[in-house]
Amino acid sequence: MKYQPVIGLEVHVQLLTDTKIFCGCSTKFGAEPNSQTCPVCLGLPGALPVLNKKVVEFAIKAGLSTNCSITPRSIFARKNYFYPDLPKGYQISQFEDPICQRGWLDIKVEGEEPKRIGITRIHMEEDAGKLVHGESSLNDGSGVDLNRACTPLLEVVSEPDLRSSDEAVVYLKQLHQIVTWLGICDGNMEEGSFRCDANVSVMPVGSDTLGTRAEIKNVNSFKFVKQAIEYEIQRQIDLVEDGGTVVQETRLFDPNSGKTRSMRSKEEAHDYRYFPDPDLVPLVISDEWVERSRRELPELPEQRQQRFIDELGLTPYDAEVLTASRALADYFEAGVAAHGNAKAVGNWIMGEITRALNDSGTSVEACPITPGQLAELLKLIDNGTISGKIAKTVFDEMWKSGKTPQSIVEEQGLVQVSDSSAIESIIDEIMAANAGQVEEYRGGKEKVFGFFVGQVMKASKGKANPSVVNELLLSKLKG
Ligand code: ADP
Ligand code: MG
Ligand code: ZN
Repeated sequence: MKYQPVIGLEVHVQLLTDTKIFCGCSTKFGAEPNSQTCPVCLGLPGALPVLNKKVVEFAIKAGLSTNCSITPRSIFARKNYFYPDLPKGYQISQFEDPICQRGWLDIKVEGEEPKRIGITRIHMEEDAGKLVHGESSLNDGSGVDLNRACTPLLEVVSEPDLRSSDEAVVYLKQLHQIVTWLGICDGNMEEGSFRCDANVSVMPVGSDTLGTRAEIKNVNSFKFVKQAIEYEIQRQIDLVEDGGTVVQETRLFDPNSGKTRSMRSKEEAHDYRYFPDPDLVPLVISDEWVERSRRELPELPEQRQQRFIDELGLTPYDAEVLTASRALADYFEAGVAAHGNAKAVGNWIMGEITRALNDSGTSVEACPITPGQLAELLKLIDNGTISGKIAKTVFDEMWKSGKTPQSIVEEQGLVQVSDSSAIESIIDEIMAANAGQVEEYRGGKEKVFGFFVGQVMKASKGKANPSVVNELLLSKLKG
């Protein structure tokens, strides 16, 4: 590799407030076009914005969770540009003195050393409306839906510290996990609640001067981010190799072709004529407010992983899987509280529960089996009532019917048979019916042992205690 890719991400995080950032209109997704609007978000002359305090609280939480400093006095600015989905002719954003500055995230790409990625800033802004083409119920041409106008966003801007598409995806996933964990964003990338602009450039290996970047707009899945960055790196390398130069521009990624294409030449900050919005006073955030927010922060994914390792004895890998979301970590901890054995509970969650959730497209929050019920099931294995194998059958029935494991075991007569006389009589029958195999075994062909275990388990409908079966079979076959 002669070239070093450099990547910086700008991520838009749509905040989970009930109302918009500068008015009281609802932010609910999917309503009739323009039904959630008022003079403020329609941009009518003379209407005045009033800042939603919840947005500030969410921004502070995001900042503290990404190691940023909270700016004591931050400013809203007008970013001026014309577009039909922007009725005011400017977007209220932050430019100088954004609410959060100079943070970082430590990322870990598999097989590599951990690496610190700088976060330049996090600022608050309003979203624009949406143009609806063709499919609009309003007309056959194009319509403007301003329901989304004035929806609160955070923009999280990273330093150009990322060096590969893998690093970019890990960083993005980590940021996604934090904002969903905090409950400030639903994280839905398809609906655009979490979307990313990727800035990509290349420079000769060993150089300390960054190359000219292209910005790929609004990429809305982790997979597309990886594809778009990789395509763009190769495009720029080819261009430079052919003696061309990369121009600073905004590009679009087309998921169908896997390519990026030019959308417009890059606008510069001065094109926007930023200036402080005279309708909004500076936002003053006291130290007390910041400290209160800090105290109210939940235990974050990384801290929770560490605690699972230190206190519950999980491996780092298991701890990471079980903290994939806050709901999953909560489920796991409730299961451990009800059962006691973190390893056993963890294995069932990473195995059966995860499989069943995936197969049925269910979220952990909606899991039909409670952590308490899972613990009851495991206790039935612990005390020998059922075998681990039968437990999987009971699990499937719990999932479908919502019944308790005890009642399923009783109703279906699944109690494990450990009584040796009952198992012995089954073994005797099977040995009598398979005299040939008995001879083979006694003649030294030990492989047929497995055949006998299978037959006995089958005859007992899976209920025979496997260790008792093994023990008795061995002594009987040996004669
Ligand atoms: P703009 O809004 O004009 O895109 P920002 O400063 O908000 O500017 O964002 C710039 C983004 O581009 C940041 O994430 C930054 O890390 C990244 N970036 C800056 N220079 C380069 C470069 N040469 N190569 C790759 N990324 C870059
Ligand atoms: Mg940008
Ligand atoms: Zn409104």
